[in-house]
Amino acid sequence: MSIVVVGTVAFDTVETPFGRRENVLGGSATYFSTSASFFADVSLVAVVGEDFPEEHVDFLQSRNIDTAGLKRIPGKTFQWSGRYGYDLNEAQTLDTQLNVLMDFHPELPESYRDAEYLFLANIDPDLQMNVLEQVRKPKLVACDTMNFWISSKPDALKNVLQKVDVVIINESEARQFTGEVNLVKAARQIIALGCKRLVVKRGEYGVLMFTAETVFAAPAYPLEEVFDPTGAGDTFAGGFMGYLANTGDHSEEGLRQAIIFGSVMASFNVEDFSLNRMKRLEYKEIQARFSTFKALTNFRNITF
Ligand code: AMP
Repeated sequence: MSIVVVGTVAFDTVETPFGRRENVLGGSATYFSTSASFFADVSLVAVVGEDFPEEHVDFLQSRNIDTAGLKRIPGKTFQWSGRYGYDLNEAQTLDTQLNVLMDFHPELPESYRDAEYLFLANIDPDLQMNVLEQVRKPKLVACDTMNFWISSKPDALKNVLQKVDVVIINESEARQFTGEVNLVKAARQIIALGCKRLVVKRGEYGVLMFTAETVFAAPAYPLEEVFDPTGAGDTFAGGFMGYLANTGDHSEEGLRQAIIFGSVMASFNVEDFSLNRMKRLEYKEIQARFSTFKALTNFRNITF
């Protein structure tokens, strides 16, 4: 089954303790769609400027991603620059240049409007809402956001969060959005807005998935080499949604399985800068790491 994603396609300048890369391919929709493309058909809605090289579009197409919804308009592509210290869990944004994003009015190709899965990746919440309104009857809608939009457009963001099935955000953003320090209480508040499920990304500490009644915890895959955490969250979301679209299994068990596939995909992405690791990733590596992941969290089921 197919997934439509709206988000950013970007030039990133990233500095980590292990190096610096300038104007490399990035963006929430880029990471998401590349990751999801290992499991399902993906259609992209995004905007780039005249400066965006054709080779990046070729790469997306080589992953079978439908780029009919990728608009090129006059101006410069969205640019983000950020830095990570030795604590790789939190990016410090140095600069955000919205550029062509300010003049973007997404118009979904007719073939996108019957999509069953919709991911509203990190982008202006007004654009997220605009795309949500154009998809006729999605079976499952999920969304992400970040501090930039929480502080600049809190009301528009709240409207989006109320209309989706699954909210996927970082720990610090859950706290920022609710003003609640305790993560469990913050999660309850976000769920009370109307979404059914909240997935909280906690960097190297893994993921928590909340419903009104349940909590599921998954660790992050323990890696020796982490070069660049940029895009880990979007790559996680791509694996999560990709797996759900592939299986159609929305049961609690299916969603937990999807969390692990998301975690596996994110663990590959952080092993190199930009999308370099994803570019050389093979499906058999995903399967192998999934098995190791299972062993990692396996313990004997004893009764007291
Ligand atoms: P992640 O590390 O998964 O949270 O996402 C990183 C990606 O988000 C980078 O490739 C950036 O280009 C993109 N990004 C950064 N800031 C924003 C923003 N304000 N809106 C949308 N995308 C952004």
